[in-house]
Amino acid sequence: MRVESADVLVLGVGTMGSMACWRLARRGVAVVGLEQFEPGHDRGSGHGESRMLRTAYWEGSGYVPLIRSAIELWRQLEEETGTELLTMTGGLMIGPPEQDPVAGALRAAREHGLPHELLGPEAMARRHPQHRLQEGEIGLWEPGAGVLRPETAIRAAAAQAEELGARLRCQLRVTSVEVGDGVVVRAGDLAFAAPRLVVAAGAWLGRLLPELKLPLRVERQVMTWFRAQQPDDFSPQRFPVFIHRRDGVDAYGLPTLDGVSVKVAIHHQGRSADPDQLDREASEADLVLPSRVVSDWLRGLDPRPVRASVCMYTNTPDEDFVVGAAPGLPGVVVLGGFSGHGFKFAPVIGEVAADLALEGRTRHPIAGFSPSRFA
Ligand SMILES: Cc1cc2nc3c(=O)[nH]c(=O)nc-3n(C[C@H](O)[C@H](O)[C@H](O)COP(=O)(O)OP(=O)(O)OC[C@H]3O[C@@H](n4cnc5c(N)ncnc54)[C@H](O)[C@@H]3O)c2cc1C
Repeated sequence: MRVESADVLVLGVGTMGSMACWRLARRGVAVVGLEQFEPGHDRGSGHGESRMLRTAYWEGSGYVPLIRSAIELWRQLEEETGTELLTMTGGLMIGPPEQDPVAGALRAAREHGLPHELLGPEAMARRHPQHRLQEGEIGLWEPGAGVLRPETAIRAAAAQAEELGARLRCQLRVTSVEVGDGVVVRAGDLAFAAPRLVVAAGAWLGRLLPELKLPLRVERQVMTWFRAQQPDDFSPQRFPVFIHRRDGVDAYGLPTLDGVSVKVAIHHQGRSADPDQLDREASEADLVLPSRVVSDWLRGLDPRPVRASVCMYTNTPDEDFVVGAAPGLPGVVVLGGFSGHGFKFAPVIGEVAADLALEGRTRHPIAGFSPSRFA
């Protein structure tokens, strides 16, 4: 059997793995990235044209320093590759003021001194007439939000990693991970050996490292796009990214990137899924709730979807990430459980992976992401 050696192996060259390859290759170490499809594919969690970045983070103000570091690295990746990845649009959290996402975003903004404005019904109607508010709802606006382009970003990071010397092995499905004196990873009749391994396998993580017993739930998610009656009203300059919670439903939306359609979808509420048996066709039933949100919560969009795409969340019980040394598996760093909100952090998670793999520690605040917290 042929064995290829490296300083660090990265299993999965998707969202987090592509960034880990880039950050590791930048440090001059020999990196081999292993991917069952190809960077920027549409069968994992990193596709669908757009991802939201927000700084006033309602999920927890502890994430704010990580987001700030991520923004710096997004700009660095743009500069190194000459590719536009992040467009700032501002963001709106909408709902009752005492509930998340508004309450949590306000807390994060105040704790970290982030620019923001609370907009009552009149200000919302004047400045953001695309939204229909119910009585008791307000908006929290922040300038520190925008849109990322996921497929382009993953391809850019993977290409830049290769430019810096990383070797990417694609269309290669890893079937086993053996940890002893170093790590050996097998894919068919090929083997790869290194003292360190970063596992960034997304929805397949639980299957690859069952010994960690991580309580991960893979959730099918449907993204939907709706035609704008006046596309200019939904341009990145005029339509901030938003999350709107009403009656227990979290809807989110992003401005038009194709000049025709606007992505509006529902966060969570999907069914559990097996990543190898995922139903990739959106059904009529999948479209009912997003269409209702578009007709009742927004103005200026045709409520019949023009496109849909299926993706996966990999959820932890607390919806915080799993990032750190894998307990009981020396040399292995695990990046997973991004629970539907990980994309914006990808480059800083890549940097953390490089820190942990090469130095065993990081200056970034990841204490809450320990893989052993569920034990
Ligand atoms: C619909 C949707 C909307 C989202 N919106 C946002 C948002 O607005 N903002 C935000 O910040 N986040 C958002 N997210 C979350 C974010 O996209 C994910 O958290 C992130 O993409 C997860 O990255 P990952 O690297 O864990 O998984 P992936 O990007 O799927 O990467 C895992 C990779 O590992 C590879 N792999 C797995 N097993 C093997 C194997 N055995 N051998 C070889 N390769 C393997 C896979 O092929 C894949 O390429 C959203 C997610 C979805 C699904």
